[in-house]
Amino acid sequence: MGRIAVLDENMINMIAAGEVIERPASVVKELLENSIDAGAQKIIVRVEDGGRKLMSVVDDGVGMDADDLAAAFEPHATSKIKTSDDLLKISTMGFRGEALASIAAVSRVSVVSRIAGAIEANRVEIDCGDKQLVKPCSGDYGTTIEVRNLFYKLPARRKFLRTANTEMTHIIEHFTRIALGNCGLDMTLMHNERLLHRLLGGQSLRERIEQLFSKTVVEDLIETSGSEKGIRIFALLGHPAQARANSKFLYVFLNGRFIRDKFISHAIKEAYRGLIEPNKYPVVFLFLEVGGDAYDVNVHPTKIEVRFENANLIHSQVLAVLRNKLLSTNLDVSGRLPVPAVNLSGAAAPGAAERNKRDRIAAAMADFFKQNKPVGSSQQHFGFSGSRTSPGLGQGKTAAPFETAVAVGQPLQTDTAAKKLLQLHNSYIVAQTDEGFIIIDQHALHERIVYERLCRKVGAGNLESQRLLIPETFELTDTEADAIKANAELIEKLGIELEPFGPKTMAIQSFPVMIGKVNPTDFVRDLIDMFSEKSGALDPERLLHEALDMAACKAAIKAGQPLSEVEIIQLLEDKETVERASRCPHGRPTTIKFTLDELEKQFKRT
Ligand code: ADP
Ligand code: MG
Repeated sequence: MGRIAVLDENMINMIAAGEVIERPASVVKELLENSIDAGAQKIIVRVEDGGRKLMSVVDDGVGMDADDLAAAFEPHATSKIKTSDDLLKISTMGFRGEALASIAAVSRVSVVSRIAGAIEANRVEIDCGDKQLVKPCSGDYGTTIEVRNLFYKLPARRKFLRTANTEMTHIIEHFTRIALGNCGLDMTLMHNERLLHRLLGGQSLRERIEQLFSKTVVEDLIETSGSEKGIRIFALLGHPAQARANSKFLYVFLNGRFIRDKFISHAIKEAYRGLIEPNKYPVVFLFLEVGGDAYDVNVHPTKIEVRFENANLIHSQVLAVLRNKLLSTNLDVSGRLPVPAVNLSGAAAPGAAERNKRDRIAAAMADFFKQNKPVGSSQQHFGFSGSRTSPGLGQGKTAAPFETAVAVGQPLQTDTAAKKLLQLHNSYIVAQTDEGFIIIDQHALHERIVYERLCRKVGAGNLESQRLLIPETFELTDTEADAIKANAELIEKLGIELEPFGPKTMAIQSFPVMIGKVNPTDFVRDLIDMFSEKSGALDPERLLHEALDMAACKAAIKAGQPLSEVEIIQLLEDKETVERASRCPHGRPTTIKFTLDELEKQFKRT
């Protein structure tokens, strides 16, 4: 007797269910998608015990008649596609005809549905694939699906369900994705009779984000859009300061469908390169619209992945639109003043190091304001905006937007009081702005400035170099000599000229002018170390930028270095001329801004 037998239909469905229905959240996702495809305007989701006990979805969509109800739970039963051509232009969320059959194979399902114009509704019940006859019943227009006891006949699967809280987190995540992709829908989510989300129909995307996440997430979002080569892009971009430790906050939607795509994720990360630390991810809500024939969603059972016909084009368009916006936006970090202890309830307490730093900044600020005691009310002192000239910058030149000089005819007493600039601990610069003041990390900012200049120069050709009066020599190993040979082109680009100088010795003949103050031997040695460490791992472009970054770091003003007023003014002026000035090349902030509003709140003036 043969050992091979064709599985019965129910077994086939149970196995298929393993692909589509991973956990309760997958059920909620599939049911929500069906309601959307049915044209629902209003959807209510009720969950009990993290989905283990019950998941029910009520919609006001087109509904199903008795025949459709009987058919809907058959495997591969769908109203959404008919021919293979339809597969190429899918505009609905579902099309595989698998979800209901899969869900009904592994749980107890009851459906009540009524179509427009029908005098009554119909009901059908299925218990792990065992379907009862369709019977008329009373019910509203639309469809109500109740799914109970998920995996109850599959103890192995049920065992893998996590706590109600964990399963609920997954359900909320799927609910969130669908809610973001369909702002027009009125959507409600309840768990154990507790209301988790009540989203009104017709909300704006920002309103929805605020309700689903928080006000802080929405406040800093930067909006951008673009439309080229058949790809429409709309995005709300999180401020780099909001970067997260994982990619959970990359919300990408393709024609309204939430997707995960490695090309798009890469483009987003690339757009933020140098603005956030390399191991972090930005908060991004990205909406793409492309023709249905430009991609294939039929590549993954849960439809979360798609295959683009031209992934490179999508990548380059997303990168261009996002990067342009980020580069042209002032991304200074907003400072949060220390929160009074009484208000800390619930909020995570900052770590000791963080607290320490905050305290030092707060103390330094207190000193600053003590030294600069205004005459009359501080409102007056902060509020003025007279014309002022900048010493050291030439006649009549205004150092806007920084008030960096002696104010003319202002009610100030002493010279110190007139200055609106201060260097603290030889490391930080405090400067008054129209809205309040900023604190600058002098090294981080200068590093960015030098880096951007180096990049610009290198973009136009090799860095300009200068012959050393006395060549500097250093010893090196054979491996190091090999590293130099392997990267000869890059070394030349940097404007460094090296020549063998006896056995195991090399001489530096020329060195780039722009980083002339850096010790040539130190720099070249570090460069060789960097080559040995990274040249295999990085492409030439990245390696060049690592080298420029190293040069910028070494050439930049150091923390702890006292600066003259003229130097400070120069630094602030340069800040205005470079791109990405709010972040150092490693993605750390260079500038933190504080607003008057916030100060006034802290000093209880409001
Ligand atoms: P698919 O969505 O891929 O077509 P499903 O198994 O999810 O497959 O659903 C099967 C069919 O049942 C759908 O094509 C649709 O015609 C019908 N259906 C499912 N849910 C609903 C609903 N909430 N309202 C109206 N019709 C529905
Ligand atoms: Mg479906």
